[in-house]
Amino acid sequence: MNGTVCGTAQAIVEWKKYLIAQCGPIVFKDSLADRTVFKRWSVKIKPEIVAIKKDSVKPKGKRKHLSPQEWQKMLQNHDVTVIDTRNHFEIEVGKFRGAIDPKIQQFSEFPEYVRTSKIPKGKKILLYCTGGIRCEKALIAMEQEGYKNVFQLEGGILAYLQQFPECAFEGECFVFDRRTAVDQHLCPSQIYGICPHCGDPGTVKIACTMCEHQTMVCQECNTQQHRRTCSKNCAYVERRRSNLVQGKRNGT
Ligand SMILES: [Zn+2]
Ligand SMILES: [Zn+2]
Repeated sequence: MNGTVCGTAQAIVEWKKYLIAQCGPIVFKDSLADRTVFKRWSVKIKPEIVAIKKDSVKPKGKRKHLSPQEWQKMLQNHDVTVIDTRNHFEIEVGKFRGAIDPKIQQFSEFPEYVRTSKIPKGKKILLYCTGGIRCEKALIAMEQEGYKNVFQLEGGILAYLQQFPECAFEGECFVFDRRTAVDQHLCPSQIYGICPHCGDPGTVKIACTMCEHQTMVCQECNTQQHRRTCSKNCAYVERRRSNLVQGKRNGT
């Protein structure tokens, strides 16, 4: 079971109590938001929490986990290879200094990356992800390829930043909610917004060409005239307007 909820401090305390009563000990990771970051309540029942699409990859319980302190110590060691197991667009927002970006678009591509990576089998490998869930499977996928010396960051980047802000993790941590990312102190990003057109992290500040509302769009959408707008609605109107102008120029 894996999930994220947003609520007032008091509501979250109650929620944790309820969950522990239902399920026993659970690891919680807290971060801050100044407003509700989810649109709705949603529960999904899926065959896998993080889809690696390989039946043989089954987590074997808590093993080879490094606490943020142990991880920090291990990073000082020059003979480690650090691999970010998240998707490429998340890694672009921030990662551990020197970590490898496997450039995957989805997690099911990870085993193939490992197979073709040419990282020596004897290397000491450190894996991490946002909250530590994905690594439970990434670690097994690596072991199945013959890597014996693989470790994972328990609780992921979020647990690390809680104890080591402004250290070995550089940039911000992408999160799957309205904040887009949290900064080194787990506060909502001041740099990123969600692109209203495609949902990717937006880094380009614009004033909507239709309504002048200030917003952030992604670099890709910023190259398209009708997407230099604040919403799908304004994009639609902008597109119609430029089509009309185009039509007049062509005399149609
Ligand atoms: Zn976009
Ligand atoms: Zn607008």
